[in-house]
Amino acid sequence: MYIVMIASECAPVAKVGGLGDVVFGLTRELEIRGHSVEIILPKYDCMRYDHIWGLQKCYENLLVPWFNYHISCTVWFGFVHGRKCFFIEPHSPENFFNRGAYYGFPDEHVRFAFFSKAALEFMLKSGKRPDVIHTHDWQTALVPVMLYEIYQHIGMWHSRACHTIHNFKHQGIAGANILWLTGLGRPEYYFQRDRMGDDFNHSAINFMKGAVVYANFVTTVSPSHAWEVRHSDWGYGLGHVLHQHQSHFGGILNGLDYDMWNPESDPHIPYHYSAGDISNKYKTKEALRQRMLLRDAYKPIVAYVGRLDPQKGVPLIRHAIFHALHRNAQFVLLGSSPESGINADFWAIKHHLNDNPDCHLEIGYNEELAHLIYAGADMLVVPSLFEPCGLTQMIALRYGTVPIVRAVGGLIDTVFDWDFSERPRQERNGFVFHQTDNLAIESAMDRAIGLWFNEPEQFHELAINGMRYDYSWNQPGKDYVNIYEYIRDK
Ligand code: ADP
Repeated sequence: MYIVMIASECAPVAKVGGLGDVVFGLTRELEIRGHSVEIILPKYDCMRYDHIWGLQKCYENLLVPWFNYHISCTVWFGFVHGRKCFFIEPHSPENFFNRGAYYGFPDEHVRFAFFSKAALEFMLKSGKRPDVIHTHDWQTALVPVMLYEIYQHIGMWHSRACHTIHNFKHQGIAGANILWLTGLGRPEYYFQRDRMGDDFNHSAINFMKGAVVYANFVTTVSPSHAWEVRHSDWGYGLGHVLHQHQSHFGGILNGLDYDMWNPESDPHIPYHYSAGDISNKYKTKEALRQRMLLRDAYKPIVAYVGRLDPQKGVPLIRHAIFHALHRNAQFVLLGSSPESGINADFWAIKHHLNDNPDCHLEIGYNEELAHLIYAGADMLVVPSLFEPCGLTQMIALRYGTVPIVRAVGGLIDTVFDWDFSERPRQERNGFVFHQTDNLAIESAMDRAIGLWFNEPEQFHELAINGMRYDYSWNQPGKDYVNIYEYIRDK
């Protein structure tokens, strides 16, 4: 099959969070299965160009219709660790993707509506007719809409659309100007509630709702989250439309790129190890301590890696730092937030704990350091309020680091409590808590830290159990191919 992914991120070249990992990892898996896959991305000025090989112009002066004029684009081609990627560079005064950051601008909807339109226009004009176009999150949710309302009538009648929702919180709510800019026009038609009309703001369209209505299949990133978004507030208002379209909606657990995240060969860690012999993990722990200026002591290291977003349970992350120290453990944190208030808060904690030899907070984004933390820590806390899938707990498991998670979304599907799970003992791989208060995370951390100090052999067994899980792209890859075949043959 011929598949084109259209997304706003792809690891490691343009990555903000899990979306980037999924686009890269799924593409790679599909290629291993013999499918032909191409990725279309914006050409951001702030990308990691050192991860692109053979970057060259492949289409000049692509004229993208925009309102009542055209924006000229150059399309570039390059390999990102073997994946075929096209990068769209618009030439217009708005400078959509030359702003030094991926997201966070007041005209965000215009930027990504333009990108979606340009990606379709590029496929149309360069003769690409994929069997399946796979889009991701609100940024590219207008692609299925424009495919069926515009492009299938002018040549792309054969392509089918699959859309994956990684995060329901950001849906792309915008005014009628987007309809005029993209050439969709007809606000009275698109504002209808069974099309893109937002259910809460009647003078707005909702990009993500558009994808749910128009795509041939919609997925989210874990079975538990697929249930939650239809039955609780975590659908952020889309529960109703998902119910209406539930015959083509489902949850597929994300996979992890087992090449990129591999304790046996990871170039970012000094010592390699496997489930068969984990002894080098302890040397890696020493290396982490040296890097983070922690003292050498008989203590477990508890870690947090991830965005410091309200979604991730910021007050619980903060509490986990102090509770770990209180329980005689060490704590390392790697994270950052686009919200200056949250960042300032963590900078204040960092200054407060500056002289503490058992704690180090690294506020920022650092891919290489993340690998060292996953490998060197003993435990990883993931106290999310909601978590569509979550990759950090899966990475932790792969590196023999025991996850301590809140029972929500994909965390339910991947972490099974050492004390309370109904699974057999050899399938238990972490610690789970349910509520969002301090006592809940304290009790799970106490069980984990207690086991580390009092029953080291059992803790070791638990870590190995986690390493033996297969959360690679193997099964999700099969599931996506089944969906693609199903919609292609419809
Ligand atoms: P989300 O997509 O909500 O951010 P996920 O758990 O699905 O959360 O994916 C997070 C990914 O981003 C993981 O690969 C994690 O290691 C990485 N990551 C997040 N924050 C940082 C950071 N500050 N430095 C390095 N990697 C990070």
